[in-house]
Amino acid sequence: MFPHRAAGVFRYPGRRCGCDTPFSWPGDRSGMADGSDVSDVTIGVSTDERLEVRDVTDAVAAGLPAGANGTCTVFVEHTTAGVVVQEAESRLMDDIEDALASLVPDDGWRHDGLDGNADAHVRATLLGEHVTVPVSDGAPDMGTWQSILFVECDGPRERTVRVICE
Ligand code: ZN
Repeated sequence: MFPHRAAGVFRYPGRRCGCDTPFSWPGDRSGMADGSDVSDVTIGVSTDERLEVRDVTDAVAAGLPAGANGTCTVFVEHTTAGVVVQEAESRLMDDIEDALASLVPDDGWRHDGLDGNADAHVRATLLGEHVTVPVSDGAPDMGTWQSILFVECDGPRERTVRVICE
């Protein structure tokens, strides 16, 4: 709906399946050593601003095995970024950025003596590092107005997000 907001999402070249044998993506789980019905794909998200909300719903969907039914956990592998389920409306996404900035001031934190990004850690703490959503027929099965939003709190940079479907 707002493609400019998803422009920084890309398939990460490396991917994992939780086993020693790489498997052919998408949909082929033949490489799963234990025969389990789980896929674990890493996607990348790049941002342009220090604090930025991006819609990653399509990228998550692309990381799901074809025809999968179950649940999908979207896990952010960082301490200064988060993920939420919210409406991907551009003004609301700006509002979320503004709210985080006003809720958590930029300075005055002890951790800033180490690397100057305590605000980003605290903002990410408020958001959480994962969401779990239902999956039906290989696609996220959410409410009409729900999207999966990645929230960068210490960008711009490239991040990795795991999409674990089971
Ligand atoms: Zn830090």
